[in-house]
Amino acid sequence: MSLAGVRFLPSCRLDVSAVPDECPSVAQVHIFSACDRAARLRGVDVTITCLAEDHPPTDPHTRRLAADIRTNDGSEASAASLALALQGFLGAEWTVIYEAAAPPTNPQLAPYYFADANATGAHLHVQPLRGTTYP
Ligand SMILES: [Zn+2]
Repeated sequence: MSLAGVRFLPSCRLDVSAVPDECPSVAQVHIFSACDRAARLRGVDVTITCLAEDHPPTDPHTRRLAADIRTNDGSEASAASLALALQGFLGAEWTVIYEAAAPPTNPQLAPYYFADANATGAHLHVQPLRGTTYP
C-alpha cells in the first residue's frame, strides 16, 4: 500500500541567503504540515515545486514565507479541492492563490484565481496574509 504525502522537487531550497539555514522556518513548517494533511486527507501526493529559490530578495518566497504547489497534473476540480483543504488547514491568517495565465472554469477554484501571465504553469501559491509575521 502506497501512502500519500508531501513531496518536493529536487530544486526546492529552504533558504537562499549567504549563510543558508538548513532548518525550515516556522512558516515553512506550517506549509509542510498543511500539505501533508491535505495529501493524507485526499489520498493524493502534494508536490511542492518552489520554496525560497528563484525569486527577488524581498519576495515572500525568498523570506521563507511562501511555497508553490503543483496543480497542473490534475483537474481544476482537484486543484479546487486542494486549495480548500490547504486554506482550511492553514487558517484565516494565510492566503491560498491559484496562479494561472487564464481564469479557471471551475466555480470552486475561481475565488482563488490570480492572473499571472508569466506563470510557467498553473499552481497554488500559499503565504501568510500581508502584515502577518512570526516572531
Ligand atoms: Zn509563489
